[in-house]
Amino acid sequence: MKVLVTGGAGYIGSIVTAELIAQGDHVVVFDNLSQGHRAAVHPEAAFIHADLADRAALRAAFDTHQVDAVMHFASNTLVGESMAQPFLYLGNNVTNGLNLLQETVAHNVHRFILSSTANLFDKPERMPISEKERIVPGSPYGESKYILERMLHWLDRVSGLRYAALRYFNAAGAAPGGERGEDHSPETHLIPLVLQVALNQREHVTIFGDDYETRDGTCVRDYIHVIDLAQAHILALRALDEGSRTYNLGNGQGFTVRGVIDTCREVTGHSIPAVIGPRRPGDPADLVASSDRIREELGWSPRYPSLRTIVEHAWEWHRTHPHGYGD
Ligand code: UDP
Repeated sequence: MKVLVTGGAGYIGSIVTAELIAQGDHVVVFDNLSQGHRAAVHPEAAFIHADLADRAALRAAFDTHQVDAVMHFASNTLVGESMAQPFLYLGNNVTNGLNLLQETVAHNVHRFILSSTANLFDKPERMPISEKERIVPGSPYGESKYILERMLHWLDRVSGLRYAALRYFNAAGAAPGGERGEDHSPETHLIPLVLQVALNQREHVTIFGDDYETRDGTCVRDYIHVIDLAQAHILALRALDEGSRTYNLGNGQGFTVRGVIDTCREVTGHSIPAVIGPRRPGDPADLVASSDRIREELGWSPRYPSLRTIVEHAWEWHRTHPHGYGD
C-alpha cells in the first residue's frame, strides 16, 4: 500500500514509517518539523514539509500521491501543556485533524488510522482498562483525540471511511539497533529524562508525587515498546477493509515511577539520583491497558514486553545519540 503518514518525522511516526517500508509499503511523510526531525524520516519515504493547517498543501499531497491509506500522528501530545494552552489542542489538534479528514474523504481514500490516547480514561472504574470503559477525557488533549474519534465514527457511517483508533498508553523504547528513538524538545517523558541523568545531562530526576495510592506511592503506567506499537498499526491497517475498530494498546503490566528508575539504574549502571517533587497536574494514579481485544481480533502480541528490554533499547538510542538527531 501507499500510506500518507502525518507526523512521520516524529518519534512514533518515524518508526512506523520505517516498519512500513521494511514490509514493502510506500510512504509519503507529511510533517511541519515543528517537533519532528528530517533525519528521522526513512530515506526511501517521500517527504512533504508542510503544515496540516495549509489546506492547499494537503490537497496537493493527495493529488500528487495516490495514497491508499492515511496514518495520522501529527499532533500536540502533552497533557500538562494542554491544561495551560487549551486552544493548541481544542483548536489546532481538532482543526488540523478535520482538514486531514476532509481531504481524505474528498480524495476517496477509505482507510484511516488515528493515534489516540489513554488520556480518554481519567477516572477508570476497572483496571486494566478495556475498550468498554467509560470515556472521561482527562484534559483538552484527551478531549481533542476523543473529538477526532467521534468524527471517525460518523465518517464511517456516512462516507464509508474505515478507521482504526489506537489508544496508546506509554510509548517507550527505540528501534533496536539505535537508528531511531525519542527526541523531544523540551523532553517531558519519564524514561528519556531518567536516561539523561545517566548521561550526566541532568543532576537528578524529579518524581512527581510519592503519595498516590499505589504500591510504592508513585504513579503506575503501562510502558509499551514503540516497535510493538508500530506492529499494531500495520496489523490494523491490513484489517481495515473488514471494518473499523478501536483498540487500547499497552503491555497490560503496570510499573511505578520508582520501578522505572530502578530498571534504568540496572541497565545503565548509574546511580541516577531522584528527588521527590509535587504531583503533576492531570496525572491519574494508575493507567494500565487491557489489550485483549487487539490480541484476539488481530493476533497482536508484544515482541518486547519486558520493561528491561524497553529501557535497554532506549538506552542504546540515547547513549549513541546524546543530542538526539542533532538538529
Ligand atoms: N514522571 C515523573 N517525573 C518526570 C516525568 C514523569 O515522575 O520527570 C511521571 C509522571 O508523573 C507519570 C509517569 O512518570 O506518572 C509517566 O509520565 P510521562 O510524562 O512519561 O507520560 P504520561 O503518563 O504523562 O503520558
